[in-house]
Amino acid sequence: MANVNRQRQRMVDTQIARRGIRAEPVLNAMRAVPREHFVAPEMVEFAYEDSPLPIGEEQTISQPSVVAAMIEAAEVGADDRVLEVGAGSGYVAALLGHIARQGRGRVFAVERHPSLAQSARRRLQDLGFGDVTVRTGDGTEGWPEEAPFDVILVSAGGPEVPKALMDQLAIGGRMVIPVGARRDQTLVKVVRHGETEFEREERDRVSFVPLIGAQGWAEDGTRSASNHSPGRQPGEPPATLPEMIADAAEPLPDLDSLDFGRLFDRWGDRRVVLLGEASHGTSEFYRARAAITKRLIERHGFTIVAVEADWPDAAVIDRYVRHRPGGRAEEAPFQRFPSWMWRNTDVAAFLDWLHDHNRSQPPEHRTGFYGLDMYNMGGSIAAVLDYLDRVDPEAASAARERYGCLTPWQRDPATYGRAALSGGFRKCEAAVIEQCRALLEKRLEYAGEDGDRFLDAAQNARLIASAERYYRIMYYGGADSWNLRDTHMFETLANLLEAKGPDAKAVVWAHNSHIGDARQTDMGITRDELNIGQLCRERFGAEAALIGFGTHSGTVAAATDWNGAMEVKRVRPSRSDSYERLCHDAGVPRFLLDLQAERNGAVRRALLTPRLERFIGVIYRPETELWSHYSEATLPGQFDAWVWFDETSAVTPLGPEHARPDVPDTYPFGL
Ligand code: SAH
Repeated sequence: MANVNRQRQRMVDTQIARRGIRAEPVLNAMRAVPREHFVAPEMVEFAYEDSPLPIGEEQTISQPSVVAAMIEAAEVGADDRVLEVGAGSGYVAALLGHIARQGRGRVFAVERHPSLAQSARRRLQDLGFGDVTVRTGDGTEGWPEEAPFDVILVSAGGPEVPKALMDQLAIGGRMVIPVGARRDQTLVKVVRHGETEFEREERDRVSFVPLIGAQGWAEDGTRSASNHSPGRQPGEPPATLPEMIADAAEPLPDLDSLDFGRLFDRWGDRRVVLLGEASHGTSEFYRARAAITKRLIERHGFTIVAVEADWPDAAVIDRYVRHRPGGRAEEAPFQRFPSWMWRNTDVAAFLDWLHDHNRSQPPEHRTGFYGLDMYNMGGSIAAVLDYLDRVDPEAASAARERYGCLTPWQRDPATYGRAALSGGFRKCEAAVIEQCRALLEKRLEYAGEDGDRFLDAAQNARLIASAERYYRIMYYGGADSWNLRDTHMFETLANLLEAKGPDAKAVVWAHNSHIGDARQTDMGITRDELNIGQLCRERFGAEAALIGFGTHSGTVAAATDWNGAMEVKRVRPSRSDSYERLCHDAGVPRFLLDLQAERNGAVRRALLTPRLERFIGVIYRPETELWSHYSEATLPGQFDAWVWFDETSAVTPLGPEHARPDVPDTYPFGL
C-alpha cells in the first residue's frame, strides 16, 4: 500500500507536474484519489503509468496527464456545478468530487453503459465520494434537470460539440471536449460569454474512445442523424515549414556513392557519434550507417563500432572482423529472434568491408565490433519464453506480449490487458532467473577465454553481482527494465572507450528510441525513461553527436508478435500531424538536416513544437499504428541532425543462398 502511495506521488511529480500542470487543486486531487481502485486487480501494477487502461465494455480509464490538462483547462473551482460525460470507471468524477469537496461544488456524471455506471457508483461510494451523482444515459443530451453547469467535461471524443451541452453551459461556463475523428481528436475548450456568444479554442491532440449518442457518433461508427455539422479536418502544418526544411536540407548522394559519408565529416572529431534508425528492418538505414561509419573509420580514426546487440553474439563477429583467433562459438551468432536485425545482407556487406579494412591495419588500430548488451537480453528472453512454454503456456503468452509491446512508445491500452500477469508467471520467477544467471555465467566464462581482456575480473564480478536484479526487472518488463537496459548499454560503451584509451572514438548503431535524447520525448517526460543518447549527452556533452533517421513510406522487415516470423510489411504513409510528414512535404528524397548549424536556427526553432514521430521496432502493427508506433517528441531536442529517406525498403535476411563454402570457419554468421 505504501508503495502504491509512493507511486501515486511520483506520478503527480513527474508525469503531471512536468507536463506543465500547475493548478494546485488538480495536483492535490491527483495526489489524493487512488487510481488503482478504478482498474481491475490484475491491472493495478500499471495504475500509475501515464496511460489509459481497459475497464471493460471496450472502454478505458482516462490517461492521468490528459485528465489533469482537461481539468486545468476547464478551470474547475471548488464551488462549481460540474457535469462529466463518460464517467467510465468513475476516476475523473472522483477527482472532480475531491475538488468540489473543498467548497460547495456539485458533481454529476453520465455513463451510457449501465454496468460501468453501476460499478463507478459503487467505487465512488466506497471511497467516500457518495455525493457525486452518477446516472446511466446518453450524455450528449446533457442532464437538463441539473443544468446549467459551470463546467462540462467530456471524457469521450465526438465529431462535434453537442448542441445540448452548449445550451446547458452557464454564462461564464467552460466546456472541454475532444473533437475530431473516432480515435484521434483535438481538445476543444468552449467558453460561454453570453446567451449566444461562445468562444472556441483548440488545444492538444488527444486520443479518446468515441462519444456515442444522439449528438455524437452512431454505434456503427457513422455520425448520428441529429448531428449534421461538417467534420473538422485536422489542421495541416503551415505550408512554410516543409519549405524551410527543404531550404535547410543538404541533399544526400546515392547510397552506393563513395561520397555518401562526406557530409558527415563535420562530426569526425567527436568522441561518440550515435547513428539511429526508425525501424529494425529498413535497408537504407543500415546502408547509410555503414557508409557513414566507413568514412569515420577511414578518415577520422574511429576504432569502435558498438551496436544494440547482445555482447556474446557480437564477440563472435568481432573475432572475424579483427582477424583474431578464438574458440568456436557454441552457436552461430544472431540466430535468435529477431535474426534479421543483424543477419542481413547490408550488415554482412559492412562486416566484410571491415574485415578487409582491418587486414591492412596493425592490430592496435583495427576497428572492433561490439554488442552493448552485456546481459544478453535476447538470449535471456529466449530462455524465459522457452521455459514458460514448457511449464505454463498462459504465462508464456503474457511474457511474449510484454517483451513485444511494452516499448517506450507503445500506448495501446489493450496491450496492458493482454500483458497482465497470471499467478503462474510470478511462480516461475525464481526458476527463470536462475536460468538466466546460469546462462550469463557460461557466457562470461566463454568471454574470459577471449584474449581481449576487455572484461577484467572486477567488471566480471560486478556484472554477476547485479545480474539477479537485472534479470528480475527484465522478467517483468516495462519502464524499469528499459532504464536498466539502457544504463547498462551506456556503461558498456563508456567502459569500451575507457579501455581503448583517451583518444578512442566510437560509432554507435541503435534505434532512434535509444539514441534520441529521451528528455525530449514522451518516454522521458511522462514515463521517466532515459536512454543511451541522453546519458551520452550528460557524460560527453558536445563530444557526442546524436543523429536520427526517418522515412515516410515503403516496406520494412518486421514481425507481428514477439518470436513471430519475419514479414515484409508495407509502411503506411506518415501521418499528417507527424514530423515525418513535414519531411515528406519538403520534397527532397534523401537529405541531411543539420539541426546544430547556425544557419538553420530558424527551422530548428520552428520544429521545436512537439509533434508525433514514428517508431517501428522489431514488431510493426500497421492496423493500430497511431497507438503502437507514434509518440510525441521534440525532434530538434532529441537529435543534433536528422537523416531522411523518403521511400525505404525492407532488409534482406541472410538465407542459405548466401552460404560461403569458401570460408566456412571464419565467416561471421557461420552459414
Ligand atoms: N472518465 C472516464 C473515462 C472513461 S472512457 C474514466 O476515467 O474512467 C469514456 C466513457 O464514455 C466510456 O465509459 C463510454 O462508455 C462513455 N460514453 C461514450 N459515449 C457516451 C455518451 N453519449 N454518454 C455517456 N457516456 C458515454
